[in-house]
Amino acid sequence: MSELRVRFAPSPTGYLHIGGARTALFNFLMARQAQGTFILRIEDTDVERSTQESVDAILNAMSWLGLSCDEGPFYQSDRFDLYKQKVQQLLEEGKAYKCYCSSEELDAKREAAMASGDKPRYDGTCRELADEEHEKNANRPYVVRFKTCPEGETSFNDRIKGTITFNNAELDDMIIQRSDGTPTYNFVVVVDDAEMGLNLVLRGDDHVNNTPRQIQIYQALGYPVPEFAHVPMILGSDKKRLSKRHGATSVMAYRDMGYLPEALVNYLVRLGWSHGDDEIFSMDELIEKFSLDHVGRSASVFNPEKLLWLNEHYIKTGDPQRLGALLVEYLAAQGIDAKNGPDPAAVVVTLQDRSKTLVEMAEKAAFYYQDVLIYDEQVQEKFLTPEQRPIFEALLDALSECVFDHAGIENAFQVVLERTGLKFGKVGQPTRVALSGGTSAPGIYEVVEVLGRGRCLERLTTVLSRING
Ligand code: GLU
Repeated sequence: MSELRVRFAPSPTGYLHIGGARTALFNFLMARQAQGTFILRIEDTDVERSTQESVDAILNAMSWLGLSCDEGPFYQSDRFDLYKQKVQQLLEEGKAYKCYCSSEELDAKREAAMASGDKPRYDGTCRELADEEHEKNANRPYVVRFKTCPEGETSFNDRIKGTITFNNAELDDMIIQRSDGTPTYNFVVVVDDAEMGLNLVLRGDDHVNNTPRQIQIYQALGYPVPEFAHVPMILGSDKKRLSKRHGATSVMAYRDMGYLPEALVNYLVRLGWSHGDDEIFSMDELIEKFSLDHVGRSASVFNPEKLLWLNEHYIKTGDPQRLGALLVEYLAAQGIDAKNGPDPAAVVVTLQDRSKTLVEMAEKAAFYYQDVLIYDEQVQEKFLTPEQRPIFEALLDALSECVFDHAGIENAFQVVLERTGLKFGKVGQPTRVALSGGTSAPGIYEVVEVLGRGRCLERLTTVLSRING
């Protein structure tokens, strides 16, 4: 068995879609598991619709997901000479032909076929033109068509779907080179997959119908035919093809919404693949366990709640240093500069159990970094009143004097309870409000410790002057 060579071949006409990312991931996992090669090929032959912006967006999304390639990115737009040469080869060998039918003629034929209830297909007008006919047409624009074998069947053993057989009579002579000289998808994909030595083509099942045509091209060009695996589609909850109606479909939109790449990877792999009842997989586990044998044949339904659940899991169990560095970016997106505030990793530790996304975490972390806290009016009326003045005064004293670690802080609160004669229940909530602006912050000792002595004293002083003023 030769070394496994697989690829991801996106068309750069938009962002990296969830479905594309899953295809890329499956290919990546297959390559890593077999210690094979993962190739990235940008299919930008459609010059009108391909943009550099989209190439960048796709590359960014792949690198965010951790799907590094071993070869590439290759650009089809750099390879036009090769495609031309291969078209020429087929023309010379009589396996392709120039077709001069105008689009008006073709439209008229198509309409006639549809009117009589036939499948619209090219009728072969130019398929067997004699040399003189070609000479006569020498100055006319032409496309190049592939001479499809009209008899028999084309069959392949799909690694996911099993044997798929097409009746060749269904396939008409498709265009492999347009009248402007540019080659078409079904042709270049074969030349590239073959020239790049791919032995497994793993892609979305929207390409199943292209496969018999492509197989005939492999054969005509004398290339070995690779194996194929077509991954079923992803559907929305209404069982329609996943689209924006069902929520974000762009990989990077999930980053912007505060998802971790490992959550998305873990989620995507389970869209189609299963391993018993297991749900949580690290990339290393996936590389070890992934198998096409356990990719289902039917479409999978996108479930945003499950993705959120996985994200919550990865936030809860993530390394605080790493999440802290990310948190800083999400705070910045909310207009908060974390530079002069508490250590983000320490902040993360107080919020890991209470945040489903990094956006939510940044919202909850904002109070740590704000210079001026914004108090909710109702909360203020309830908790920041002259009645609480003695609490804040006592706390101000105790926190200025205590050893500033967890035990020291706990001790400082004891001093406050003794001095005010109040139970902790009466002290904790007003303090939480004074220091965080609201009632739902993490544990008060943690908040005090992470905020640091300076900020605590500053906030208590501000609250006292508000109460007094
Ligand atoms: N470029 C094609 C697409 O974006 C994929 C081609 C293939 O995987 O064969 O759909």
